[in-house]
Amino acid sequence: MFIIFGNRVRHTTLSTGQFYCPQCKTRRNYELRRARNYFALYFIPIFPLNTIGEYVRCTTCSTNFQPDVLKMPEPPAMPLDRMTLEARADMDSGTPIEFVRQKLINTGLKLDLVQQTIEAAAGPDRRRCAACDLTYRSTVQRCARCGAELK
Ligand SMILES: [Zn+2]
Ligand SMILES: [Zn+2]
Repeated sequence: MFIIFGNRVRHTTLSTGQFYCPQCKTRRNYELRRARNYFALYFIPIFPLNTIGEYVRCTTCSTNFQPDVLKMPEPPAMPLDRMTLEARADMDSGTPIEFVRQKLINTGLKLDLVQQTIEAAAGPDRRRCAACDLTYRSTVQRCARCGAELK
């Protein structure tokens, strides 16, 4: 019979929360985890030998960071450029977000830049007309196409 001894590293989650992930460049959920060497018999961790260290793991991109990353201030949001402000003004005047996007695409702007501009201009709160399948900025009250009140 073979008895297998060995050291295994075990990870435990100490806490979770939100942080600014430098890899994703936005707010994400994190897990503060601790890695420990365990003395293992039959590959079942028996008791901790020593703490290897604590680290912060982004649950989205799975990148591991030093715990100091939690103290890092979130970088200030980039000021909106002219194109974004124009797109927002367009949306605020009642133009569906999809139309504003199409307008930007028609100018020959690269698609990832179009998406970036639309996201920044529209913001996270949007309204949608279920009948027309169009989305609007939250400042818009009525659907431009069918006139229905937006919820
Ligand atoms: Zn991340
Ligand atoms: Zn509508």
